[in-house]
Amino acid sequence: MKCRHCGTPLAHTFLDLGFAPPSNAYLTEADLSKPEKYYPLKIRVCDQCWLVQTEDYAQADELFIPDYAYFSSTSTSWLAHASRYAERMIEILGLTANNHVIEIASNDGYLLKNFVAAGIPCLGIEPTASTAAVAEQLGIPVLREFFGEALGKRLAAAGKQADLIVGNNVYAHVPDINDFTLGLKAALKPGGTITLEFPHLLQLIEHTQFDTVYHEHFSYLSLHTVNRIFQTAGLRIWDIQELSTHGGSLRIYGCHHDNERRATNGVTALLRREADAGLQTIAPYIDFQKRADKIKNDLLDFLIQQNRAGVKVAAYGAAAKGNTLLNYAGVKPDLLPFVCDAAMAKQGKFMPGSHIPILTPEILAAKPPGFVLILPWNIKDEVKQQNECLIQVGTKFVTAVPEIRIL
Ligand SMILES: [Zn+2]
Repeated sequence: MKCRHCGTPLAHTFLDLGFAPPSNAYLTEADLSKPEKYYPLKIRVCDQCWLVQTEDYAQADELFIPDYAYFSSTSTSWLAHASRYAERMIEILGLTANNHVIEIASNDGYLLKNFVAAGIPCLGIEPTASTAAVAEQLGIPVLREFFGEALGKRLAAAGKQADLIVGNNVYAHVPDINDFTLGLKAALKPGGTITLEFPHLLQLIEHTQFDTVYHEHFSYLSLHTVNRIFQTAGLRIWDIQELSTHGGSLRIYGCHHDNERRATNGVTALLRREADAGLQTIAPYIDFQKRADKIKNDLLDFLIQQNRAGVKVAAYGAAAKGNTLLNYAGVKPDLLPFVCDAAMAKQGKFMPGSHIPILTPEILAAKPPGFVLILPWNIKDEVKQQNECLIQVGTKFVTAVPEIRIL
């Protein structure tokens, strides 16, 4: 296989998680009596441009199931993050009713509704019908398509280029990152701004966040590599912000290559930090697997110990990263009888692979377990806060990544 950005043959494996079902393929009760599809989950790294990427496998397009169950608005901290972002961008770019904002992967309108409220025209691009329908009810026009160069050019031809293009947690999810970036170039007005947020590879490596690896997540991105991909497409990065979302994300600010905005010191400083961490050498990549294996073994040890001691452990958050962790560790309902999740769309379903049932969080208060394992560790504070009544009756909260930690 060749690198999706630069075409160099890929010679190194970053992480091999064996086979796993798609992490968002939640199962109904009827599905449990049918065969389940597993796909290889292997991550490679390019030793030329350092793009960390999933290895190609057959039938990758099957992953994008139409009733994709993730609705951004179910996380209150994410909603607050989106509203702060909109406020900041309206202020620093001076956006008014004469401007145009495009969000790629606009989901249920969690972000664009802030621009609608401020009277700024916007357009969402979202191929998932169930979430797009919710956004339209909020008064947000939505194009139900995948984004790429062809769509970017069509928007430009229709006079719909944007002053601001937003892409939150979509850049790492696109199979053809070059085509997507050329789409950004085409859809951006002269003088316009692009902001993209994606989990930062430096954080993934430093904190062994191997559970953020799943099939739908095609690229694992450093600033160095994104900078290179942008430059190839005729764009450049002029500012960055490090964010705490998703365990450590990067928000990059891009513009056309010939734009006169000067790059900030933050860009240079972060490029240097990545280089100092060795991200342009092979060492940190080939060392990653054994650190992931230690986490997997420690989780199994913990669950087996509690099981032997007769202490009940439940999980919280039927998130994609939980599926990666549980499936790699081979955890089944005997060790972890149920997972709670506030998203109604997931309740009553089962986790792919592990077949652990997903229940409403209210069940925890009715029968408090000894431990609650928070699978989406990035929202652990929010989960703990919402469940303070459990702490009072002796339930302990625990996370497994980057190590077993009782909170
Ligand atoms: Zn490459």
